[in-house]
Amino acid sequence: MSGWNPWHGCDKISAGCKYCYVYRSDEKYDRNAREVRKNASFYDPIKKKRDGSWKLPSGEIIYTCFTSDFLLDKADEWRKEAWDMIRQRQDAMFLFITKRIHRFYDCIPEDWGDGYDNVIICCTVENQQMADYRLPIFINAPIKHKLIVCEPLLEEIDLRKYLTPEIRQVSVGGESGVDARECNYDWILSIRQQCIDADIPFEFRQTGTHFRKDGRLYTIPRKLHSSQAKKANINTHKQILTK
Ligand code: SF4
Repeated sequence: MSGWNPWHGCDKISAGCKYCYVYRSDEKYDRNAREVRKNASFYDPIKKKRDGSWKLPSGEIIYTCFTSDFLLDKADEWRKEAWDMIRQRQDAMFLFITKRIHRFYDCIPEDWGDGYDNVIICCTVENQQMADYRLPIFINAPIKHKLIVCEPLLEEIDLRKYLTPEIRQVSVGGESGVDARECNYDWILSIRQQCIDADIPFEFRQTGTHFRKDGRLYTIPRKLHSSQAKKANINTHKQILTK
């Protein structure tokens, strides 16, 4: 998987944003994450290397817009050009995660139709309230490849009525950072069972910092969040998001 980060910065929009890593890292460098700016890497999808091959390789999933939200209103003026590049790169898949699926119809290009073949959209929901708000919009939207991401998972979520056959995967994980809110393994196992019942691939991506299992609260260093989740060995099917 390679990455393309066309713009940087974002506005907090829901509970899952409370300890957003973009804010945390910008604070370290005395920058304001609310000041959204176009990155120098904006045109990376259409840049070529000396040997004529694409800078962002063909045949890969390109993780898009990872320090912002692709559907952010402050990026409206840049999105058309971004779509133009995505349309041009039919040889690669573009994947973005959004907390703004309610802006979907304001943001798609004119020729979107029933979705671009090379775009994967992940709708993120952190609690039941956001699941009940975002997922009805998401499951009804014309998108060719749909994933649900429950990260940071803040409580047990009942996803059952949203696990329709076109959902290609559900990923879950806890929150990182020193102030991170606790994630309970029981919530993860509950979503896993819902996915098994609906025959939808499931992935446990990371434990987060404060992880409760069998009643015991563990503090897990950042570098072990993914490996500890992997050790649980509870993923099903072949995973799409795993790096
Ligand atoms: S939507 Fe994502 S990038 Fe934007 S503030 Fe929330 S967590 Fe951060």
